[in-house]
Amino acid sequence: MGSYNQRFPYRCQNGHEGSLAVWLVVDGEEQPDLLRRAGEGELTPPRCPECGAETGIGGQLSLLVFRPGQRPEILFGSATPQDGDRVRQQAPRDPPRALS
Ligand SMILES: [Zn+2]
Repeated sequence: MGSYNQRFPYRCQNGHEGSLAVWLVVDGEEQPDLLRRAGEGELTPPRCPECGAETGIGGQLSLLVFRPGQRPEILFGSATPQDGDRVRQQAPRDPPRALS
C-alpha cells in the first residue's frame, strides 16, 4: 500500500496562508507514528500549522487508514467539518460463506 499525501493551498480564519500536506492514505505498517496521530484525530480535519485553526480545505477529502494485523484493518474517515474531526470506524464486510 504506502502512505500518500498531497499539498493543498490553504488560508485559515486568522489569515495564515500557504500550502499544507494533507494525508489521504496512511499505511500503519509503514508509518506507525502517523497511524498513532491519525488515531488521535490530529490529521483530520487539516489544521493551520501556525495557529491550529481549521483550514477549511477538508472539502471532499477523506482519509484512508490501513493497519494490517488489527481489526478492522481499514478505517475510513472523512475530513469534512460537518462529519466531525474523528476518524470513524467502519466494520469490514464479511465475505459470504459457502455452506458445505
Ligand atoms: Zn492560522
